[in-house]
Amino acid sequence: KFSHPHRLGLGSSNPAGKIPLGLKRKGLRIVVTGGAGFVGSHLVDRLIARGDSVIVVDNFFTGRKENVMHHFGNPNFELIRHDVVEPLLLEVDQIYHLACPASPVHYKFNPVKTIKTNVVGTLNMLGLAKRVGARFLLTSTSEVYGDPLQHPQKETYWGNVNPIGVRSCYDEGKRTAETLTMDYHRGAGVEVRIARIFNTYGPRMCIDDGRVVSNFVAQALRKEPLTVYGDGKQTRSFQYVSDLVEGLMRLMEGEHVGPFNLGNPGEFTMLELAEVVQETIDPNAKIEFRPNTEDDPHKRKPDISRAKEQLGWEPKVSLRKGLPLMVSDFRQRIFGDHKEGSN
Ligand code: NAD
Ligand code: UDP
Ligand code: UDP
Repeated sequence: KFSHPHRLGLGSSNPAGKIPLGLKRKGLRIVVTGGAGFVGSHLVDRLIARGDSVIVVDNFFTGRKENVMHHFGNPNFELIRHDVVEPLLLEVDQIYHLACPASPVHYKFNPVKTIKTNVVGTLNMLGLAKRVGARFLLTSTSEVYGDPLQHPQKETYWGNVNPIGVRSCYDEGKRTAETLTMDYHRGAGVEVRIARIFNTYGPRMCIDDGRVVSNFVAQALRKEPLTVYGDGKQTRSFQYVSDLVEGLMRLMEGEHVGPFNLGNPGEFTMLELAEVVQETIDPNAKIEFRPNTEDDPHKRKPDISRAKEQLGWEPKVSLRKGLPLMVSDFRQRIFGDHKEGSN
């Protein structure tokens, strides 16, 4: 039988992952599921830099060892190859639960596996949180709003989701994950936090994950046409990854359960995004129209007043500032180090 997390030296006043006054954060042990992925690896960097001990749990479906390799050899870092659909026994104070493919191309690849990851995977991590008294943070998504009939989207909106469509494995999976999270909170007293993340971009995104920012950037760098799906008038709001990570950490450390929208309210049509990519990389890049995918949401823009008020958080990096940071990373990964011009 495993004991409670107090063996971590935090004292018995830490029943649910709270940091007792006067004790240093470096006593915390934190699990990041999906920590070898795009967002997770940036979060891990911040937690390690803060002095925490981090255990990354990842099955490497879309994550890569390269994203966390710089921590190998650090005694505060551990990497476990594990699928969250299977039970897991660990002793920790906080769980950031990110494990789940995020790009439509990846989550549609094996939809049943996506549902299992969201439902069974989240159940297992909540069971773990309950057993050890850890605080649990779910990374949910703006997709819970589906093709929204309210604009911008507030957390109080219940959404417009097709339950039987090709995106449902992800949308409904995350909605169920939110339900499970709240039921463990209400029923078992688990301390939980819910973030609803809007489209996020930055270094370490998979180059060929099919998401619009990674596609446009890779296409412009490779001198290929930018593929705009549909008429390109659908909108998204793009958040730079460092802003998201700051929001996730504030949410975990704060007092509020949420859900909280974490996103950048700057709203762009896909054609406008293509223009920003042209400005940033190649003014001569061509645009090519392609048929859109099924059930594509027409517009999306977060109302972030709740996060502003309750977490004191708002994004700082505009698309025009953030994009060049991602471009230099993509340039290096596509062309190799010998290519100059990393911004
Ligand atoms: P990502 O695909 O880069 O990272 C997901 C990570 O989870 C990968 O390392 C992958 O290998 C791992 N993983 C997937 N299934 C797993 C399983 N069954 N067991 C263990 N590990 C598993 O995606 P990301 O962009 O870093 O997204 C992280 C989280 O944020 C996801 O939960 C995603 O739904 C959520 N989110 C992201 C965005 C975004 O725009 N990036 C938007 C909304 C929500
Ligand atoms: N679980 C886990 N690690 C733990 C505790 C539980 O993976 O440290 C899993 C467990 O296998 C179960 C799920 O979490 O499938 C839910 O656990 P809980 O104790 O809430 O429910 P029960 O085991 O009673 O179904
Ligand atoms: N999209 C596009 N060209 C691409 C990839 C995507 O025009 O090469 C569009 C897609 O139809 C959607 C938007 O960009 O309207 C955002 O798609 P993405 O897959 O990045 O994320 P989503 O918000 O749909 O999960």
